[in-house]
Amino acid sequence: MSVRAVEFEPTFEGWQAAARALLREGVPPADVRWRETASGAQPSLIADATAPSSGAVRVPRRFLDLARRAAAAPDPARWQILYETLWRLVHENHDLLNDARDPGVRRLSALAKQESEGEPEGEGAARLVPAGAGLAELRGAAASCTGCDLYRHATQTVFGRGPADARIVLVGEQPGDQEDLKGAPFVGPAGEVFDRALADVGLERERLYVTNAVKHFKFEERGKRRIHQTPRANELAACRPWLDAELAAIKPEILVCLGATAARAIFGAGFRIMKDRGRFAATRWAPRTIATLHPSAVLRGEDPAQEAKLYQMLVEDLRLVATA
Ligand code: SF4
Repeated sequence: MSVRAVEFEPTFEGWQAAARALLREGVPPADVRWRETASGAQPSLIADATAPSSGAVRVPRRFLDLARRAAAAPDPARWQILYETLWRLVHENHDLLNDARDPGVRRLSALAKQESEGEPEGEGAARLVPAGAGLAELRGAAASCTGCDLYRHATQTVFGRGPADARIVLVGEQPGDQEDLKGAPFVGPAGEVFDRALADVGLERERLYVTNAVKHFKFEERGKRRIHQTPRANELAACRPWLDAELAAIKPEILVCLGATAARAIFGAGFRIMKDRGRFAATRWAPRTIATLHPSAVLRGEDPAQEAKLYQMLVEDLRLVATA
């Protein structure tokens, strides 16, 4: 078989979707070259491989947990290592991860550890958040945040936008390329999908407060392009005080998590977006909290039919919000 160059969004979800397609076609790891694509988009929200409805290959939950963390490590070889491990789990030994001496398992564990240890970072935003402040003061303070290293390379802090008395708050993951340049959330290609979906369900954006879990764009430079990188757990934690302060100031009736990162930040690490989306639950931030796809997931459908399906899921969930 000839070597297959696979282009994918460099996130766990992007890799997962590509890996699933390769497994379906029976392409062995030695025949794959992983090429990260540039896009200002956020992580895709392809179905969890463990979700019964996804028709996906079943792998141990522990692999998914390790793989998610390994995907956030800075090592460029991580995608290949992930696929090798996945291939072996499916084709050689379902209990492979129990063999702590296996070189492949050790490499995967080392990658996951890199992520959890993280790079040297700031002290988090907590000390910079003015207690009890309103949105305007928070926005001003966040503009000079140095709570983690992400401010060093991004253009500016992209704080939330919308009225202080918004009934509905929507939270995404982090600003993308266009958002970073313009200083506003959801104004790039994903923002166009977002606006279309809002219009389809009759929600007026001017009445919503829209923000992200992380306020600086995290990316990797590839030539002239800036490739989105998923924020690490420690970056999410560093930035969390800003989101908490926004929610405390607004006290929304409805909180909508757009995408897996925001959903896990609010509902916990076990949240599976394709399985658990579209249901209201009470959280400490809002009496009605719900998660749906990130609009950028729609842009990464494999074909127009899948894009349409993903878009419909997003619209279905937002319709629940519009009618609540
Ligand atoms: S990502 Fe958040 S915590 Fe990190 S520097 Fe930006 S605003 Fe501060």
